[in-house]
Amino acid sequence: MKAEIIAVGTEILTGQIVNTNAQFLSEKLAQLGIDVYFQTAVGDNVDRLTEVIDLASQRSDLIILCGGLGPTEDDLTKQTLAAYLGRPLIFDEEANQKLDRFFAMRPEHSRTPNNERQAQLIEGSIPLQNITGLAVGGLLEANGRSYVVLPGPPSELKPMVNENLVPLLSQDNAKLYSRVLRFFGIGESQLVTILADYIEEQTDPTIAPYAKTGEVTLRLSTKAGSQEEADAKLDRLEAQLLSVKTLDGQLLENLHYGYGDENSLAQVVFQLLKSNDKTITAAESLTAGLFQASLADFSGSSQVFNGGFVTYSIEEKSKMLGIPLADLQEHGVVSSFTAQKMAEGARLKTGADIGVSLTGVAGPGELEGHPAGTVFIGLATEEEVTSIEVLIGGRSRSDVRYISCLHAFNLVRKTLLKGKHLL
Ligand code: ATP
Ligand code: MG
Repeated sequence: MKAEIIAVGTEILTGQIVNTNAQFLSEKLAQLGIDVYFQTAVGDNVDRLTEVIDLASQRSDLIILCGGLGPTEDDLTKQTLAAYLGRPLIFDEEANQKLDRFFAMRPEHSRTPNNERQAQLIEGSIPLQNITGLAVGGLLEANGRSYVVLPGPPSELKPMVNENLVPLLSQDNAKLYSRVLRFFGIGESQLVTILADYIEEQTDPTIAPYAKTGEVTLRLSTKAGSQEEADAKLDRLEAQLLSVKTLDGQLLENLHYGYGDENSLAQVVFQLLKSNDKTITAAESLTAGLFQASLADFSGSSQVFNGGFVTYSIEEKSKMLGIPLADLQEHGVVSSFTAQKMAEGARLKTGADIGVSLTGVAGPGELEGHPAGTVFIGLATEEEVTSIEVLIGGRSRSDVRYISCLHAFNLVRKTLLKGKHLL
């Protein structure tokens, strides 16, 4: 089934309003497993609306019009579609009674003949009652096509779609179920290369890679009759994909850190800290608090984070974290020595279970002979103090700082997963 959405309203064309109805409808239809091939916006004009309806009728099975069901002269969607299909408008009894009740309760509003139009439907339509407004919507079969008319205000359109339209459309359609796998430590191009066979062959479920700053996601989607049926298919594909090896021989499973559009690496670490009952602190140089601010994004962050340090200059690293200035000068601030001392110092000063540090070159220039994007990340627990070096090449200053935090979160994640004995 090919669907098409037509948003009616001159305000859309003049840029006064954003066509959010199309986005909402597209998302709903995708969930129902209905493919949307076109979205059009057209002004409040009979000739141009007729033209668009005619074109849609030639290429789509389901045509959804929204906007222009109101009482004013420029609201002409139902009238134009009725004329195009050669059908009369008739009154919907329930919508008419709703108008009666509305005006009976508001004597200050006078009911005009124009209001009557809101209770009208094209003959043969299934009415879609308006829970939050007055204009009735409708679903109509004509010439082998389905036409839907919906009101423009999102506050009216959304409940009408959710309560009245979706049940009608979902009767004979499998739904689309999706699962998003999130990866850190691999680029999109390598991921696509090692999964090329799967991506090319797979028609159900489909696999869609998407690159975000510093990480990659794979969206697996399948059409199925139930969540259980979908889960079985997605579980099978996920297990196959995660057993694929990267170019340097690691299992993809080791780079897979979570699920979902929203579930960031910071969030995964926050949950792990909470479930393991651990606290964390940080001393940040090039990121200047970004790591700690990311932790504070989650409600309940005070359970795992009590405070930390922003130590930008070498003097503050020494003063705030208790590291001899001469040692810092000897090793340089862009070094594993400094990263480890910062992590350890932060942990000891706050008494947190885990201390993290970030020091390096945000760029664009170099520092201490190290190129932009050279970053050392330290991690201290009661048992051990370690550090990693990462090179985030060819990135803007803000990307380097952001991706550095992702590396730091990933290091904490791996440490927490390695087991409690380290903490
Ligand atoms: P009304 O009874 O309010 O006149 P209507 O069904 O005639 O409703 P329109 O007149 O086309 O709808 O639009 C009314 C309001 O609804 C617009 O001013 C705008 O705020 C919102 N709206 C209309 N179309 C859209 C759209 N495609 N996306 C988001 N909002 C919209
Ligand atoms: Mg209107």
